[in-house]
Amino acid sequence: MKLTELLQSNRPTVSCELFPPKPGTALLDAPSVVRRMAALHPAYMSVTCSAGGSGNGGVTTADMANEVQNINGITALAHLTCVAATRDEVRASLEDLKKLGIENILALRGDLPRDGAFPHPDGYHHASELMEEIRTFGGFCIGGACYPEGHPESATLYEDIENLKYKVDAGCEFLTTQMFFDNNELYSYLYKLRRSGIDIPVIAGIMPVTNASQIKRIMSLSGSQLPARFRAIIDRFAGNPAAVKQAGIAYATEQIIDLLANGVDHVHIYTMNKPEIAGSIMANLSEILQ
Ligand code: FAD
Repeated sequence: MKLTELLQSNRPTVSCELFPPKPGTALLDAPSVVRRMAALHPAYMSVTCSAGGSGNGGVTTADMANEVQNINGITALAHLTCVAATRDEVRASLEDLKKLGIENILALRGDLPRDGAFPHPDGYHHASELMEEIRTFGGFCIGGACYPEGHPESATLYEDIENLKYKVDAGCEFLTTQMFFDNNELYSYLYKLRRSGIDIPVIAGIMPVTNASQIKRIMSLSGSQLPARFRAIIDRFAGNPAAVKQAGIAYATEQIIDLLANGVDHVHIYTMNKPEIAGSIMANLSEILQ
């Protein structure tokens, strides 16, 4: 199913995210993680793609998307990055996804490589160029990323929103937000998008922070701000991992309930291959999502 069909309805949707396991990491049983996540009946499951391309040296984004959709019967959204790819490599990835029947792609540039080798001479400067390529290829529903607090490379939020219009013009049909921890940031961002004429569906990205060490990394990568209310939780419970986990699940649940109550119908949880965390949040929402 194309995600635009799902997003057209006013029925609330909650989706989950997976990443392909890196070779040599502890996550050896990717099929079991997919199965456990699928058992929670998310509206769809997205599979990330490393900035280096769809293959992680082992299980690829396409392999995981196949597992999600063709083995477990949940619509898959495959991420596709272009920062290190040639046009031929991107077209080969599109062929692979098409053969598997994957219909939805989140088209991304990917974070810039530290060695400054960007873009590839036969590659793409921005996600919007990748979107044009996918649209020309045909047959996919195309999504993109957006940043309620502005992309870290943009001088201002307004500049970032102006650049977002290139994505919409290139065929982007829906947006998933970067994580945010203060819902007011999203409400104010949605207002600015609509005012700028961007009216495609926006899916709110929620990150359950379940260990204190995640925080620094999240802040440096996403540029998201931590509200004082959230910082107090981490300060108070940082020495007690079980308490941080419980508080992180409760905080994410509360954010989601507030979003749904205020008419933001589509929420994506950055579940990071952790079915038990996704399961706790889904259990907290069981009646709300009926
Ligand atoms: P772009 O849209 O190209 O934007 C990058 C910067 O360039 C922004 O500052 C933008 O304002 C500016 N810009 C865009 N177009 C133009 C233009 N035409 N002219 C001038 N400036 C322009 N990374 C991964 O490696 N793998 C993943 O699976 C992944 N999934 C993600 C999912 C979501 C929902 C989000 C929010 C991010 C994800 N990322 C992922 C991170 C993402 O790759 C980085 O944030 C990256 O730095 C920017 O990607 P983009 O697609 O938004 O790029």
